[in-house]
Amino acid sequence: MSRPLVIGVTGGIGSGKSTVCAMFAEFGIPVIDTDQVAREVVVPGSEGLSAVVAVFGLDILTPRGELDRAALRKLVFQNPALRVQLEQILHPRIRAQVAAHIAKVTTPYCLVGIPLLSDRKSQSYLDRVLVVDCPEEVQESRVMQRDGLTREEVIAIMKTQATRAQRLALADEVIVNGGDLHAVRAEVVQLHQRYLALAEQTVDA
Ligand code: ATP
Repeated sequence: MSRPLVIGVTGGIGSGKSTVCAMFAEFGIPVIDTDQVAREVVVPGSEGLSAVVAVFGLDILTPRGELDRAALRKLVFQNPALRVQLEQILHPRIRAQVAAHIAKVTTPYCLVGIPLLSDRKSQSYLDRVLVVDCPEEVQESRVMQRDGLTREEVIAIMKTQATRAQRLALADEVIVNGGDLHAVRAEVVQLHQRYLALAEQTVDA
């Protein structure tokens, strides 16, 4: 049975990943969102949540038994060793769940949104990487407007992410999303054709 071509989509905060993915989705292309998968693997009752509680204790649960993400973030922010431990719990489970989603894809290709993609090795299942790129000033003003943050707050978040150059170094394709949405749509239309053609050529058994 053939498998789909798998395209990783990444980009800095506010670059327009969701906007671009929504345009591909209009063509019926499935979009697997790794942020959402990261939540799926720790839903109440999951084996993933039990594994997190076994290490971090019951204090990282809300009164309703859900993962208290803010409390967990605070804990690992203060302690890099705990951060590594958390990643060792979550990453394999996220990868397995992404693979399960990919196994259900019936279209020639699919997208996997990975906001913080920093290397290709850890994501060897990706056939290609699409970077959504835009000037940093544009990122700043979009996120200030969308999330009601100050420029300094947005810049602080951007500093925790890969640099624009680091992201672009991973790219097989780049969508430049610095202008109007019509231009982006035109790029998506072209890339959709390209990915369909590549899927036909390169993916077998
Ligand atoms: P995040 O990393 O925070 O999840 P993202 O990369 O998914 O962000 P979007 O949410 O798609 O980015 O876009 C950020 C904001 O900018 C949204 O409010 C979106 O509507 C707006 N936006 C994206 N692209 C454009 C564009 N070309 N023109 C105008 N507004 C845009």
